[in-house]
Amino acid sequence: MLRSVEFSTDAAGAAAGTLLNLNGYSVLGEIYKPAIADGCINGVEMIGLRGLPQRMEEFKRSFGDRLEIRCVHGRTGNLPTSGDRSKTRIILQTANTLMVPTQELLNGIKGYKDVAVLFHRPELDGSGSKLIFPENKRVWVENHTEGIPELKETVVLVEDLRERGVNAGVIIDFCHVIGSVDLQNGRFPDRWRNLMDQLKNFRKEFKPREPIPWGIHVAWGTEPSDSLPLTDKTGKVRQEILDDIAVVIDGEITGMPIERVVFECQSEKVADLFIPNKATVGQLTDRFGVIYEDCQEAGILG
Ligand SMILES: [Zn+2]
Repeated sequence: MLRSVEFSTDAAGAAAGTLLNLNGYSVLGEIYKPAIADGCINGVEMIGLRGLPQRMEEFKRSFGDRLEIRCVHGRTGNLPTSGDRSKTRIILQTANTLMVPTQELLNGIKGYKDVAVLFHRPELDGSGSKLIFPENKRVWVENHTEGIPELKETVVLVEDLRERGVNAGVIIDFCHVIGSVDLQNGRFPDRWRNLMDQLKNFRKEFKPREPIPWGIHVAWGTEPSDSLPLTDKTGKVRQEILDDIAVVIDGEITGMPIERVVFECQSEKVADLFIPNKATVGQLTDRFGVIYEDCQEAGILG
């Protein structure tokens, strides 16, 4: 059963909270206006940048009960995902430096009863084994580097955490599984079909030790190295992806229904994440409008 549909706040500025308001109106509120009005979104996944408590308070003041913070996205570990490794390493190192250190985030989030946390797998592996997790707190772990073996490692890590008493679950990021090269080389439709087959096999071959919670992350945008091509002109690719995602949500891939879906609406330039301008917001609002309709048609939203 799909319990939560969320949007990542980086759609409208990674710093959403302080940058929530642009020229007097709420950026997030503007982009997601139709879905907020229809009550289709349960909340947002907020990026765990430093100064998080103030950002969370500011968010609450702006949205009240209309939009809740459901999860905070913490550090990713500094491993590059794929593609140009030196470039992605620098971007990730910078992003991780701007985010709240992991143990500090785990301690701070304790007081927010219904807010989950999320980390990428490399952040919790290795030295992450020394971390102390708050009791009953849902901890989502997302696959980070390319390929199916990484997804397997993510599941194993979640199983290990659950054995330690942590309320952990797996988030599948499809773009991370595919990797930036295959997202951009024009072979995407074939690669997507192939991924769906691989995921079905993965489920047959690899049964978790016990049922675990699952979620998915769906990234769309114009940043071609990290987003599904949901902006194709004819809409055919988009429709196919969304129809498949609807099947994934029903539990076809994981053997059990997906608990949460996180949509991320990326902007064209990385800088726009931090300083959104009116043009960016207009572009994202239009794009969201199209995808929102298609998601409703595919039975994902609404
Ligand atoms: Zn992530």
